[in-house]
Amino acid sequence: MERAGTTLLRFALAAALLAGLVIYFGLAASGVAEWQVALRWYFQHQWSQNPLFLPSAALAGVATLAWLVLAVGGLLSHQRRLASGSVPARRVEVISDEELRCHVQAQLDPELRKTQPRIERVVDVLLGLPVDIGASEVILVPGAQNIELSLRLGMNRVVVGKLSPEVYRGVLERLQLIVGIEEPTGHGVIELRAGVSVEMLEVHISRGEGGREVSLLLTRRAGYSRTLAELGLPNKVTQRLDEALSTGRGLVVVAGEAAQGLCTTLYAMAHHLHQSQQGSCDIAGVEPHVRLELPFMVQMEVGAARPEAILEGLLQEDHKAIVVRRVEDAATAKLIVQAAKERLMIVSLEAAGPVDAVARLARWVSAQELRSVTHFVLGQRLLPHLCSCREEVGIAQEEQRDLEQFASLGAATYYAPAGCARCQGKGYVEQQRALFWAFDFRGGLGDALDGEVSEAALQRAARRHRLGPIGPALELARSGEVALVDVVRLLDGRW
Ligand SMILES: [Zn+2]
Repeated sequence: MERAGTTLLRFALAAALLAGLVIYFGLAASGVAEWQVALRWYFQHQWSQNPLFLPSAALAGVATLAWLVLAVGGLLSHQRRLASGSVPARRVEVISDEELRCHVQAQLDPELRKTQPRIERVVDVLLGLPVDIGASEVILVPGAQNIELSLRLGMNRVVVGKLSPEVYRGVLERLQLIVGIEEPTGHGVIELRAGVSVEMLEVHISRGEGGREVSLLLTRRAGYSRTLAELGLPNKVTQRLDEALSTGRGLVVVAGEAAQGLCTTLYAMAHHLHQSQQGSCDIAGVEPHVRLELPFMVQMEVGAARPEAILEGLLQEDHKAIVVRRVEDAATAKLIVQAAKERLMIVSLEAAGPVDAVARLARWVSAQELRSVTHFVLGQRLLPHLCSCREEVGIAQEEQRDLEQFASLGAATYYAPAGCARCQGKGYVEQQRALFWAFDFRGGLGDALDGEVSEAALQRAARRHRLGPIGPALELARSGEVALVDVVRLLDGRW
């Protein structure tokens, strides 16, 4: 917003200058009589002597006019997109992962190559990355020898560099000092000021599974979410979501494994709700920690605690929709299903997929209740994205038979990964493709919730109704974005 504000200010200054000149020449014409004579002589002389004068003057006039039109048009459209929330506040136009890596290395390497790197300089670069590039997170995770540095842009996580353990230790110590974390792990907020704008960066220092490695997460708190279309949500699912939103009550569940972009989808759904109700919808959110501060939502942070207590408080208030990220206990699930009778609840659940999620929810609340409030459960998973060097591949008979239980294959072309210089021989690019599939209780599938609800029974019902990730994944495979082998792999997995 500030950048657009500055541009407006510049336009205002230019307009004021122009107005001043007009007034000066208009009111004080007598004072500039000599100038007028000189100018008139110059134009008449050029006119008669120089055959190129008229065309070049006309060209300059047209170019100035075109520039003005483009500048004003660009500014207006940028304002509109900012207001609708479909652009991050800032973004460097980074085209490929390789360019992103070069951009980061150009800033880090001069310091890291020194025998005694200045830690404060490395920290400055790391803190600047979200703002410079528009990344929502900077992630540092210890690997076998070095510490891997990656950035999250939307759903994609791109590895951009490495730090040595010594430098990493220095970075951690300095950040702990800045934020005031006294324990080896913890979290805090850094305020970054660049000119008039202020960015809030969250610093999370936490231990990994093994308990010994310490990872560092820098999360940007201000920004705009992606839209559903940008995430690649199929139209059918968006329509179903719109139907759910128009009822103003009920439950929408997003289910998938950790680090598969569930949060991005929830934020995009909340954003869609905000837009489709012309901003009149009062939305509240309960989250483990706020990944992105959203201007259209009241966001409550619960940390490691259960969301139950905060949710209970929120239900006393008059929010039309409530987003709950990461439901993992029976008490919270019960509250959510109860609340979904009067308002819209959009929640995420870490699970292998919708089947796993529904089986788990049905253990916490009664299957009948769940069936009566749930609009649909959205499955989500990130698949490797094929590089353009892909090659055509045939389908084995056995695979064909298995796949056709879910969708007809038709006479389409499918692909396998190959390898080229761009993908460093891997056959895949680093940015992944999100796969979405809806699990809808309308139609016959609801019967699977009668009687004993088990994962196996739900899986059988899904197969019978040709639901699941295979159909949508085959569509991605036909468009050449996803390899056939990665679709076949889904057959054996839990979802
Ligand atoms: Zn390639």
